Amino acid sequence: MIKLNHISKSFGTVDAVKDVSLEIKQGEIVCLIGPSGSGKSTVLRCIDGLEIPDSGTVEIFDEVIDFNNEASIKQARSRMGFVFQHFNLFPHMSVLDNLTLSPIQVLGMDKESAEKQAVALLKRVGLEDKKDAYPKQLSGGQKQRVAIARSLAMNPEMMLFDEPTSALDPEMVVEVLEVMKELAKDGMTMAVVTHEMGFAKEIANRVIFLEDGQIIEEKDPQTFFTNPETDRAKEFLSKII
Ligand code: ADP
Ligand code: MG
Repeated sequence: MIKLNHISKSFGTVDAVKDVSLEIKQGEIVCLIGPSGSGKSTVLRCIDGLEIPDSGTVEIFDEVIDFNNEASIKQARSRMGFVFQHFNLFPHMSVLDNLTLSPIQVLGMDKESAEKQAVALLKRVGLEDKKDAYPKQLSGGQKQRVAIARSLAMNPEMMLFDEPTSALDPEMVVEVLEVMKELAKDGMTMAVVTHEMGFAKEIANRVIFLEDGQIIEEKDPQTFFTNPETDRAKEFLSKII
C-alpha cells in the first residue's frame, strides 16, 4: 500500500531522516517508535506529502507521488487520514459541523448524507451525544475521538497517527487507544507514532525503531519487546518501560 524508497530529509543542517525505506501492506498496523527527534514525525509527514523528501520516492498503491505536482500530492493525501497530537478541530464549529464540512465541501456529499455519516461515526467513537457540542466543551480524550471520527468521515484507506495520546491526561489515553484498537480490528491500515508500548505490543504487526533519522530495528512486537537486537533499542526500552 505504501512504499518509502530511500527517503532523506534535512532541515538546514539537521538530517532529520536518512535513507529510510519501509513498506506498509494493506491491513497492517505499523508502530514507529524511538527517542524524541529521531525522525518519526518527519517519516510520517513524508508519507502524507506534508514534507517533501530531498531524495527518495514515496509510492501509494504502486503510484509514485510526484512532489512537483500539487495534484499528485493532494490525490495521495486524499487516501489517508492524519491524526495529530493536537486535535486541530475547528473551534468555532459544532462537532457535527466539524465532521460534515470536508465531506460536503471536498467530497461533494449532500448535507443529509454527511450528517447521517457523522452521527454513525460519532457512535463508533462513543460520542453520539456530543454532536451539538463545541470543541471547548469536550475533554482532551473526547476531542481526539472527534478528530479520529473527522478523519474517518473522508473515507480514508489508511490512517496515520502522530502521538495521538501524548497530549492527553493519563485517564483519557485509554479511551483513545480503544477507538484505535477497534479501527485496527476492522482492518484499517495504520501507521502509528506512539510511546504507548502496551498498544504497540498488543496491536502492531510490526514495530519500527528509529534513531538519528534511521531505522535501527524492524521486528514483530513480540521479538522486539522481549529480545531487542541492538544496544540502542535495549537502552530505549529500558528507559520507557
Ligand atoms: P520525532 O518525531 O521523532 O521527535 P522529528 O521528525 O519531529 O522527530 O524531527 C527530527 C529532527 O528534525 C529533529 O532534530 C527536529 O528538530 C528536526 N525538525 C523536524 N521538523 C523540522 C522543521 N520543520 N524545521 C526544522 N527542523 C525540524
Ligand atoms: Mg514527532
